[in-house]
Amino acid sequence: MVGRVKQASIISIGNEVLSGHTVDTNAAYIERQLRLIGVPTASSYTVADLQPAIVRALRLAAEEADIVIATGGLGPTDDDLTREGFAEFLGVELELREDLLVRISEMFQRRGVPMVRKNAGQARIPKGADVVPNEWGTAPGIVAEKDGKVFFALPGVPREMEQMLAASVLPRLRAVAPSQAVVVRRLRCFGAGESTIAEMIGDAMLRDHNPLVNCTAHTGVITLEIVATTQTVAEAENLAQCQETRLRGLLGPLVYGVGEETLAEVVGRQLQRQGKTLAVAESCTGGLLAKLITDVPGASRYFTRGWVTYSNEAKIDELGVPPELIARHGAVSEEVAQAMARGARARAGTDYAIGITGIAGPDGGTDEKPVGLVYVCSDFEGQVHTVRQVFPWERSYVRLRAAQTALDILRRGLDR
Ligand code: ATP
Repeated sequence: MVGRVKQASIISIGNEVLSGHTVDTNAAYIERQLRLIGVPTASSYTVADLQPAIVRALRLAAEEADIVIATGGLGPTDDDLTREGFAEFLGVELELREDLLVRISEMFQRRGVPMVRKNAGQARIPKGADVVPNEWGTAPGIVAEKDGKVFFALPGVPREMEQMLAASVLPRLRAVAPSQAVVVRRLRCFGAGESTIAEMIGDAMLRDHNPLVNCTAHTGVITLEIVATTQTVAEAENLAQCQETRLRGLLGPLVYGVGEETLAEVVGRQLQRQGKTLAVAESCTGGLLAKLITDVPGASRYFTRGWVTYSNEAKIDELGVPPELIARHGAVSEEVAQAMARGARARAGTDYAIGITGIAGPDGGTDEKPVGLVYVCSDFEGQVHTVRQVFPWERSYVRLRAAQTALDILRRGLDR
């Protein structure tokens, strides 16, 4: 169980963030910085530029966290209501701070522009609260305590927020949560769906466990995030390591990497380590497999060439696929995938080759060969192996999953 660790809640204030016009990078940034000092984030809220919404979010955040950090709404205009929201939540009035007014007007003087009356509003902060100095903007931040919890309001502008977080907020929080450590590890899996993986790891994802295990799925890659929270970094590392070993044991070859690693990076490393070379022959993926492979810097050390043989003629001319094979089995068949892989390896003179043929859709499917049907064949130094898959999704996803499947076949083959 997570003991009495101090947790945080983040509030992003602003209509443009709520509508998605501004991507909320502030919350992600703050979450990361807090994690680095051992403070996990319990919740995150996005609210409109409305005083009642800001007050409600502060109350909700205060229920579940000891540290609350809000960004946005500290500007000089009528829709900037964070100061008012903080004052109402704290149960105090806003007071004009002469020292802040002087500082703001000096900033305008330095820039050589007149200060308009509205900017004076930025010198008002809730009575009894302290100021978080803003080196790069006119809006001072606010810090206040209530019922043993600490509340910060920082500007929405990322550059200003980041500077204030580093200079004032994090040092203060290190004192609030002096003996906490959070360690995060990510295991990247491919080859089974989210629910299958969840079944395989049993109760590991129950919410009251420490480490916590979170699961996300993105374009076929399942990421298991292990979050260990405890008193020291060494202890947290140890907890995370034990859980990682346990999950690896349960999932076996489904785990292909850690952190942000891609399948193509893992395959590249394996090929390089073994001193082997690769060529690819693609039809329905139209070069996507070659693109993923060459996205990795240094791919020229192991990847020599790729063909996009979209038509039957191209398969025959470029790869030497026998025309009668296509006539007998069709261009989308195990036999043609195999002939493509063999042809690519022979012509490129590489150790390994991949052949991919399939129906990306949306048209062209039959009962026997539906849209999404893909054959991926690997030729490993003359040993061929073909995988048949049906991806029941839209065109771009069929192509991506076909290319990823080829990479997965390669990394599993290279692992042996
Ligand atoms: P200002 O003094 O500029 O008015 P402010 O504290 O009132 O600062 P906002 O007006 O809410 O902040 O936002 C200013 C700009 O900062 C926005 O236009 C947007 O580009 C950026 N911003 C605001 N909130 C976020 C966020 N959560 N993530 C990323 N960028 C943000």
